Amino acid sequence: MKTIKAFAAKTANAPLVPFEITRRDAGPNDIQIKIDYCGICHSDLHQVADDWGGSIYPMVPGHEIIGRIVNVGKKVKKFKIGDSVGVGCFVDSCRKCVSCKQGLQQYCTEGFVGTYNSYEKDRVTVTYGGYSSEIVVDQNYVLKIPKNLNMAGAAPLLCAGITTYSPLCHWKIKKGKKVGVIGLGGLGHMGIKLARKMGAEVSLFTTSESKAKDAKRLGARRVILSKDKNQMDAFKNEFDLILDTVSGPHDLNPYITTLKRDGTLVLLGLPEKNPEIEAFNLVLGRRSVAGSLIGGIRETQEMLNFCGKHKITSDVEVIKPDKINQAYERLKLSDVKYRFVIDLRDRL
Ligand SMILES: [Zn+2]
Ligand SMILES: [Zn+2]
Repeated sequence: MKTIKAFAAKTANAPLVPFEITRRDAGPNDIQIKIDYCGICHSDLHQVADDWGGSIYPMVPGHEIIGRIVNVGKKVKKFKIGDSVGVGCFVDSCRKCVSCKQGLQQYCTEGFVGTYNSYEKDRVTVTYGGYSSEIVVDQNYVLKIPKNLNMAGAAPLLCAGITTYSPLCHWKIKKGKKVGVIGLGGLGHMGIKLARKMGAEVSLFTTSESKAKDAKRLGARRVILSKDKNQMDAFKNEFDLILDTVSGPHDLNPYITTLKRDGTLVLLGLPEKNPEIEAFNLVLGRRSVAGSLIGGIRETQEMLNFCGKHKITSDVEVIKPDKINQAYERLKLSDVKYRFVIDLRDRL
Protein backbone atom coordinates (compact mmCIF):
# COMPACT_ATOMS: atom_id res chain seq x y z
CA MET A 1 0.00 0.00 0.00
CA LYS A 2 1.14 3.47 -0.79
CA THR A 3 -0.25 6.79 0.40
CA ILE A 4 -0.59 9.35 -2.35
CA LYS A 5 -2.00 12.82 -2.81
CA ALA A 6 -5.35 13.50 -4.40
CA PHE A 7 -8.25 15.94 -4.54
CA ALA A 8 -11.55 14.86 -3.07
CA ALA A 9 -15.10 16.04 -2.45
CA LYS A 10 -15.86 15.05 1.13
CA THR A 11 -19.64 15.35 0.84
CA ALA A 12 -22.18 16.06 -1.91
CA ASN A 13 -21.40 19.37 -3.59
CA ALA A 14 -18.48 20.13 -1.26
CA PRO A 15 -15.52 21.84 -2.94
CA LEU A 16 -12.63 19.61 -3.94
CA VAL A 17 -9.82 19.75 -1.37
CA PRO A 18 -6.40 18.10 -1.00
CA PHE A 19 -6.81 14.60 0.39
CA GLU A 20 -4.68 11.51 0.93
CA ILE A 21 -5.64 8.09 -0.41
CA THR A 22 -3.92 4.71 -0.53
CA ARG A 23 -3.24 2.72 -3.69
CA ARG A 24 -2.55 -1.02 -3.68
CA ASP A 25 0.92 -2.29 -4.55
CA ALA A 26 1.16 -3.49 -8.15
CA GLY A 27 0.16 -7.19 -8.33
CA PRO A 28 1.40 -9.56 -11.08
CA ASN A 29 -1.10 -8.16 -13.63
CA ASP A 30 -1.03 -4.56 -12.47
CA ILE A 31 0.41 -1.41 -13.90
CA GLN A 32 1.40 1.48 -11.66
CA ILE A 33 0.93 4.81 -13.40
CA LYS A 34 2.22 8.25 -12.45
CA ILE A 35 -0.60 10.56 -13.59
CA ASP A 36 0.34 13.59 -15.71
CA TYR A 37 -3.08 14.85 -16.81
CA CYS A 38 -6.73 14.22 -16.05
CA GLY A 39 -9.69 15.69 -17.91
CA ILE A 40 -12.73 17.12 -16.14
CA CYS A 41 -15.80 15.37 -17.53
CA HIS A 42 -19.30 16.74 -17.06
CA SER A 43 -20.19 13.50 -15.29
CA ASP A 44 -17.61 14.36 -12.60
CA LEU A 45 -19.84 17.29 -11.64
CA HIS A 46 -22.95 15.11 -11.59
CA GLN A 47 -21.31 12.48 -9.40
CA VAL A 48 -19.76 15.00 -6.99
CA ALA A 49 -23.24 16.55 -6.65
CA ASP A 50 -24.85 13.08 -6.22
CA ASP A 51 -27.26 13.96 -9.04
CA TRP A 52 -27.63 10.28 -9.99
CA GLY A 53 -27.82 9.00 -6.38
CA GLY A 54 -25.57 6.50 -4.59
CA SER A 55 -22.40 8.61 -4.67
CA ILE A 56 -19.62 7.45 -2.35
CA TYR A 57 -17.70 10.06 -0.29
CA PRO A 58 -14.99 11.13 0.03
CA MET A 59 -14.85 11.03 -3.77
CA VAL A 60 -11.77 11.47 -5.95
CA PRO A 61 -13.22 12.01 -9.45
CA GLY A 62 -11.48 11.69 -12.80
CA HIS A 63 -11.74 9.16 -15.64
CA GLU A 64 -9.78 10.80 -18.44
CA ILE A 65 -6.36 9.81 -17.18
CA ILE A 66 -3.02 10.14 -18.98
CA GLY A 67 0.26 9.16 -17.39
CA ARG A 68 3.50 7.23 -17.55
CA ILE A 69 4.19 3.73 -16.31
CA VAL A 70 6.49 3.64 -13.28
CA ASN A 71 6.14 -0.05 -12.40
CA VAL A 72 4.71 -3.23 -13.93
CA GLY A 73 3.78 -6.60 -12.42
CA LYS A 74 5.58 -9.83 -13.36
CA LYS A 75 2.89 -10.99 -15.80
CA VAL A 76 2.69 -7.71 -17.71
CA LYS A 77 4.10 -8.23 -21.19
CA LYS A 78 2.53 -5.64 -23.47
CA PHE A 79 3.57 -2.59 -21.45
CA LYS A 80 6.86 -1.41 -20.02
CA ILE A 81 8.14 1.27 -17.65
CA GLY A 82 8.11 4.70 -19.30
CA ASP A 83 5.21 4.01 -21.71
CA SER A 84 2.57 6.73 -22.08
CA VAL A 85 -0.75 5.21 -21.14
CA GLY A 86 -4.36 6.12 -20.46
CA VAL A 87 -7.18 4.95 -18.23
CA GLY A 88 -10.81 5.66 -19.08
CA CYS A 89 -14.15 5.23 -17.35
CA PHE A 90 -13.69 1.72 -15.94
CA VAL A 91 -10.83 -0.28 -14.42
CA ASP A 92 -12.32 -3.79 -14.31
CA SER A 93 -15.43 -5.85 -15.17
CA CYS A 94 -16.66 -9.42 -14.64
CA ARG A 95 -14.73 -10.72 -17.70
CA LYS A 96 -17.22 -13.62 -18.02
CA CYS A 97 -20.51 -12.25 -19.38
CA VAL A 98 -21.32 -12.12 -23.09
CA SER A 99 -20.51 -8.40 -23.31
CA CYS A 100 -17.15 -8.76 -21.56
CA LYS A 101 -16.23 -11.72 -23.77
CA GLN A 102 -17.03 -9.63 -26.85
CA GLY A 103 -14.84 -6.79 -25.60
CA LEU A 104 -17.85 -4.63 -24.76
CA GLN A 105 -16.98 -4.26 -21.09
CA GLN A 106 -18.98 -1.04 -20.84
CA TYR A 107 -22.13 -3.17 -21.07
CA CYS A 108 -20.95 -5.80 -18.55
CA THR A 109 -24.13 -7.38 -17.19
CA GLU A 110 -22.68 -7.36 -13.67
CA GLY A 111 -21.77 -3.70 -14.05
CA PHE A 112 -18.21 -2.55 -14.67
CA VAL A 113 -15.90 -1.30 -11.93
CA GLY A 114 -15.93 2.46 -12.40
CA THR A 115 -12.62 4.29 -12.24
CA TYR A 116 -14.04 6.25 -9.30
CA ASN A 117 -17.21 6.39 -7.20
CA SER A 118 -17.41 2.60 -7.47
CA TYR A 119 -16.21 -0.55 -5.72
CA GLU A 120 -13.53 -2.99 -6.81
CA LYS A 121 -14.74 -6.54 -7.45
CA ASP A 122 -14.26 -7.31 -3.72
CA ARG A 123 -17.28 -4.96 -3.29
CA VAL A 124 -15.48 -3.29 -0.37
CA THR A 125 -12.59 -1.26 -1.75
CA VAL A 126 -13.70 2.14 -3.04
CA THR A 127 -12.16 3.24 -6.34
CA TYR A 128 -10.53 6.65 -6.59
CA GLY A 129 -10.04 8.43 -9.90
CA GLY A 130 -7.52 10.55 -11.70
CA TYR A 131 -7.47 13.75 -9.66
CA SER A 132 -4.49 12.16 -7.95
CA SER A 133 -0.78 11.61 -8.42
CA GLU A 134 -0.82 7.85 -9.15
CA ILE A 135 -3.13 4.95 -9.97
CA VAL A 136 -2.73 1.16 -10.12
CA VAL A 137 -4.78 -0.61 -12.81
CA ASP A 138 -4.98 -4.16 -14.19
CA GLN A 139 -3.13 -4.36 -17.53
CA ASN A 140 -6.27 -5.42 -19.41
CA TYR A 141 -7.88 -2.06 -18.68
CA VAL A 142 -4.95 0.20 -19.62
CA LEU A 143 -4.68 1.91 -23.04
CA LYS A 144 -1.61 2.87 -25.05
CA ILE A 145 -1.40 6.52 -26.06
CA PRO A 146 0.17 7.27 -29.46
CA LYS A 147 3.44 9.12 -28.91
CA ASN A 148 2.75 11.85 -31.48
CA LEU A 149 -0.29 13.21 -29.62
CA ASN A 150 -0.22 16.12 -27.21
CA MET A 151 -0.76 14.37 -23.89
CA ALA A 152 -3.01 17.00 -22.29
CA GLY A 153 -5.17 17.06 -25.42
CA ALA A 154 -5.31 13.27 -25.47
CA ALA A 155 -6.81 12.96 -21.97
CA PRO A 156 -10.42 13.71 -23.01
CA LEU A 157 -10.22 11.03 -25.70
CA LEU A 158 -10.61 8.49 -22.90
CA CYS A 159 -14.23 9.55 -22.30
CA ALA A 160 -15.44 12.28 -24.68
CA GLY A 161 -13.49 10.74 -27.58
CA ILE A 162 -14.68 7.16 -27.21
CA THR A 163 -18.26 8.22 -26.37
CA THR A 164 -18.56 9.79 -29.82
CA TYR A 165 -16.30 7.36 -31.73
CA SER A 166 -18.19 4.22 -30.68
CA PRO A 167 -21.61 5.16 -32.16
CA LEU A 168 -19.97 6.49 -35.34
CA CYS A 169 -18.43 3.03 -35.81
CA HIS A 170 -21.48 1.08 -34.71
CA TRP A 171 -23.67 2.92 -37.26
CA LYS A 172 -20.94 2.55 -39.91
CA ILE A 173 -20.19 6.19 -40.64
CA LYS A 174 -17.92 6.70 -43.63
CA LYS A 175 -17.59 8.83 -46.75
CA GLY A 176 -20.97 9.66 -48.26
CA LYS A 177 -22.82 9.62 -44.92
CA LYS A 178 -24.36 12.68 -43.32
CA VAL A 179 -23.97 13.16 -39.59
CA GLY A 180 -25.66 15.73 -37.35
CA VAL A 181 -24.24 16.64 -33.96
CA ILE A 182 -26.49 18.30 -31.36
CA GLY A 183 -24.56 20.62 -29.04
CA LEU A 184 -21.01 21.94 -29.20
CA GLY A 185 -19.34 21.04 -25.90
CA GLY A 186 -16.80 18.45 -24.76
CA LEU A 187 -18.61 15.63 -26.57
CA GLY A 188 -19.92 17.63 -29.52
CA HIS A 189 -16.58 19.04 -30.59
CA MET A 190 -15.08 15.52 -30.59
CA GLY A 191 -18.08 14.21 -32.53
CA ILE A 192 -17.47 16.78 -35.27
CA LYS A 193 -13.74 16.06 -35.51
CA LEU A 194 -14.10 12.27 -35.57
CA ALA A 195 -17.06 12.09 -37.97
CA ARG A 196 -15.27 14.46 -40.35
CA LYS A 197 -12.11 12.34 -40.35
CA MET A 198 -14.20 9.25 -41.05
CA GLY A 199 -15.27 11.01 -44.24
CA ALA A 200 -18.78 12.09 -43.28
CA GLU A 201 -20.39 15.42 -44.06
CA VAL A 202 -21.05 16.90 -40.63
CA SER A 203 -23.59 19.49 -39.49
CA LEU A 204 -23.90 21.05 -36.06
CA PHE A 205 -27.28 21.76 -34.45
CA THR A 206 -26.97 24.57 -31.95
CA THR A 207 -29.09 27.16 -30.18
CA SER A 208 -26.42 29.85 -30.38
CA GLU A 209 -25.31 31.47 -33.59
CA SER A 210 -21.98 32.39 -31.99
CA LYS A 211 -20.83 28.76 -32.27
CA ALA A 212 -20.95 28.74 -36.07
CA LYS A 213 -17.40 29.86 -36.76
CA ASP A 214 -15.81 27.45 -34.34
CA ALA A 215 -17.93 24.53 -35.55
CA LYS A 216 -16.67 25.13 -39.07
CA ARG A 217 -13.06 25.32 -37.86
CA LEU A 218 -13.60 21.92 -36.22
CA GLY A 219 -14.88 20.42 -39.47
CA ALA A 220 -18.64 21.05 -39.67
CA ARG A 221 -19.94 21.83 -43.15
CA ARG A 222 -23.09 23.54 -41.87
CA VAL A 223 -24.49 25.00 -38.70
CA ILE A 224 -28.23 24.69 -38.17
CA LEU A 225 -29.95 26.95 -35.67
CA SER A 226 -32.26 24.52 -33.92
CA LYS A 227 -34.65 27.17 -32.63
CA ASP A 228 -35.29 28.43 -36.18
CA LYS A 229 -38.16 26.30 -37.51
CA ASN A 230 -37.48 27.27 -41.13
CA GLN A 231 -33.89 26.07 -40.89
CA MET A 232 -34.97 22.80 -39.26
CA ASP A 233 -37.64 22.26 -41.93
CA ALA A 234 -35.05 22.76 -44.65
CA PHE A 235 -33.15 19.71 -43.38
CA LYS A 236 -35.99 17.18 -43.24
CA ASN A 237 -34.90 13.65 -44.25
CA GLU A 238 -31.26 14.71 -44.36
CA PHE A 239 -29.17 12.74 -41.85
CA ASP A 240 -28.05 9.13 -41.53
CA LEU A 241 -27.05 9.57 -37.90
CA ILE A 242 -27.46 12.25 -35.25
CA LEU A 243 -25.27 12.30 -32.14
CA ASP A 244 -27.25 13.97 -29.37
CA THR A 245 -24.72 15.23 -26.82
CA VAL A 246 -27.08 17.49 -24.88
CA SER A 247 -28.28 16.42 -21.45
CA GLY A 248 -30.34 19.53 -20.69
CA PRO A 249 -34.06 19.47 -21.56
CA HIS A 250 -34.80 19.57 -25.30
CA ASP A 251 -37.51 18.22 -27.61
CA LEU A 252 -36.18 15.36 -29.73
CA ASN A 253 -39.00 15.41 -32.28
CA PRO A 254 -37.80 18.25 -34.52
CA TYR A 255 -34.41 16.48 -34.77
CA ILE A 256 -35.96 13.08 -35.50
CA THR A 257 -37.69 14.54 -38.56
CA THR A 258 -34.30 15.55 -39.97
CA LEU A 259 -33.32 11.86 -40.12
CA LYS A 260 -33.45 9.99 -43.41
CA ARG A 261 -35.44 6.81 -43.76
CA ASP A 262 -33.72 4.24 -41.47
CA GLY A 263 -31.75 7.01 -39.77
CA THR A 264 -30.89 6.93 -36.08
CA LEU A 265 -30.68 9.55 -33.37
CA VAL A 266 -28.38 8.29 -30.64
CA LEU A 267 -28.48 9.67 -27.12
CA LEU A 268 -25.06 10.13 -25.53
CA GLY A 269 -26.12 12.26 -22.60
CA LEU A 270 -28.62 11.35 -19.92
CA PRO A 271 -31.45 13.89 -19.90
CA GLU A 272 -32.92 14.47 -16.44
CA LYS A 273 -36.43 14.10 -17.84
CA ASN A 274 -37.24 11.23 -20.20
CA PRO A 275 -37.90 12.48 -23.72
CA GLU A 276 -41.36 12.30 -25.25
CA ILE A 277 -41.19 10.87 -28.72
CA GLU A 278 -43.98 11.15 -31.27
CA ALA A 279 -44.49 7.66 -32.67
CA PHE A 280 -45.40 9.09 -36.08
CA ASN A 281 -41.91 10.48 -36.50
CA LEU A 282 -40.43 7.00 -36.03
CA VAL A 283 -42.98 4.94 -37.93
CA LEU A 284 -42.99 7.17 -41.01
CA GLY A 285 -39.45 6.52 -42.09
CA ARG A 286 -38.51 3.49 -39.97
CA ARG A 287 -36.37 5.79 -37.86
CA SER A 288 -34.76 4.85 -34.54
CA VAL A 289 -33.85 6.54 -31.31
CA ALA A 290 -31.00 4.71 -29.60
CA GLY A 291 -28.47 5.14 -26.80
CA SER A 292 -24.75 4.46 -26.56
CA LEU A 293 -22.31 4.27 -23.63
CA ILE A 294 -18.57 5.00 -23.95
CA GLY A 295 -16.78 2.01 -25.59
CA GLY A 296 -14.96 -1.23 -24.76
CA ILE A 297 -11.21 -1.52 -24.26
CA ARG A 298 -10.51 -2.85 -27.75
CA GLU A 299 -12.54 -0.11 -29.41
CA THR A 300 -10.99 2.57 -27.18
CA GLN A 301 -7.53 1.46 -28.29
CA GLU A 302 -8.72 1.52 -31.90
CA MET A 303 -10.02 5.09 -31.36
CA LEU A 304 -6.68 6.18 -29.86
CA ASN A 305 -4.81 4.69 -32.81
CA PHE A 306 -7.20 6.45 -35.22
CA CYS A 307 -6.55 9.73 -33.39
CA GLY A 308 -2.79 9.11 -33.54
CA LYS A 309 -2.97 8.47 -37.26
CA HIS A 310 -5.05 11.58 -37.95
CA LYS A 311 -3.49 13.76 -35.22
CA ILE A 312 -6.79 14.32 -33.43
CA THR A 313 -6.88 15.60 -29.87
CA SER A 314 -9.41 17.49 -27.83
CA ASP A 315 -9.34 21.31 -27.61
CA VAL A 316 -8.38 21.80 -23.98
CA GLU A 317 -7.77 24.43 -21.34
CA VAL A 318 -5.07 23.12 -19.03
CA ILE A 319 -5.36 24.16 -15.38
CA LYS A 320 -3.39 23.65 -12.18
CA PRO A 321 -5.06 21.59 -9.44
CA ASP A 322 -5.80 24.68 -7.32
CA LYS A 323 -8.23 25.81 -10.03
CA ILE A 324 -10.42 22.69 -10.03
CA ASN A 325 -13.29 24.32 -8.13
CA GLN A 326 -13.22 27.36 -10.38
CA ALA A 327 -13.26 25.05 -13.42
CA TYR A 328 -16.34 23.28 -12.02
CA GLU A 329 -18.18 26.60 -11.72
CA ARG A 330 -17.24 27.56 -15.27
CA LEU A 331 -18.17 24.12 -16.63
CA LYS A 332 -21.66 24.51 -15.13
CA LEU A 333 -21.99 27.58 -17.36
CA SER A 334 -20.45 25.75 -20.36
CA ASP A 335 -17.65 28.32 -20.20
CA VAL A 336 -14.83 26.21 -21.65
CA LYS A 337 -13.49 25.40 -25.10
CA TYR A 338 -13.95 22.49 -24.87
CA ARG A 339 -12.50 20.51 -22.01
CA PHE A 340 -10.65 21.36 -18.80
CA VAL A 341 -7.63 19.18 -18.17
CA ILE A 342 -5.81 19.20 -14.83
CA ASP A 343 -2.00 19.26 -15.00
CA LEU A 344 -0.89 16.91 -12.23
CA ARG A 345 2.78 16.81 -13.12
CA ASP A 346 3.89 18.85 -10.10
CA ARG A 347 3.28 15.69 -8.05
CA LEU A 348 0.72 17.79 -6.22
ZN1 LIG B 1 -16.75 11.12 -18.71
ZN1 LIG C 1 -19.06 -8.72 -17.73
